[in-house]
Amino acid sequence: MDVTGGAPAPGPVLRVSQVLGPVTALGPGRRLGVWVQGCPLACAGCMSRQTWDPGGGQDVGLERLLGLWAGALADGYDGLTVSGGEPLEQPAALGALLAGADRLRTEAGRTDADLLVYSGWEDSEIAASPVAAAALDRADAVITGRYRAGEPTGLVWRGSANQHLIPRTPLGRRRYGPHLERTSDRPELQVRVTDGDVHIIGVPRSGELSALERDLAARGVTFRENTWRP
Ligand code: SF4
Repeated sequence: MDVTGGAPAPGPVLRVSQVLGPVTALGPGRRLGVWVQGCPLACAGCMSRQTWDPGGGQDVGLERLLGLWAGALADGYDGLTVSGGEPLEQPAALGALLAGADRLRTEAGRTDADLLVYSGWEDSEIAASPVAAAALDRADAVITGRYRAGEPTGLVWRGSANQHLIPRTPLGRRRYGPHLERTSDRPELQVRVTDGDVHIIGVPRSGELSALERDLAARGVTFRENTWRP
């Protein structure tokens, strides 16, 4: 989704890497995906190294993001996924985005649409930070913990076995409860091509991105650069 358009209007902003929809590989159903920009955690094997630099990406007004969410609700989307980057590096903007998304779903009569946040912070780190806990107040579910390449998992929507899927609200428990221990043989990945860029959306297993790169190279498609190697 195009979130460019010059300087954001006055008001709160979120530093964003990209916004895409519909996203079908990061939570249940069709979702609006917001990838925030900036992550200091530097997990070895991270597939999203382009989101690490807090000076990358662009400032996007919350008003613009909430406008996209309102449109997504009207289009029947099932939820909002905020990923990154590290959303808790921008706690005030994250909290405001979730509060606005919560208000809009109520106004639209879409209280079935859920709010999911991915964070690399560990549960203990979130619990020890009132600011982080406040930022996540309206999230229906969170997926927490660093990505650890040495701990592969088949659990859906998680990249490594240490990561926790935690429902936080009655909606979150209804929607995510059946998936807490659910595994899949192969993770669902979405591939989208825009302006010569290939976006791979989802949580690939260890080695899958390199395997995909080899498969494409065998078909004559090569990447000039990618986001999962230094
Ligand atoms: S996996 Fe997530 S938490 Fe870890 S470095 Fe990458 S963006 Fe940051």
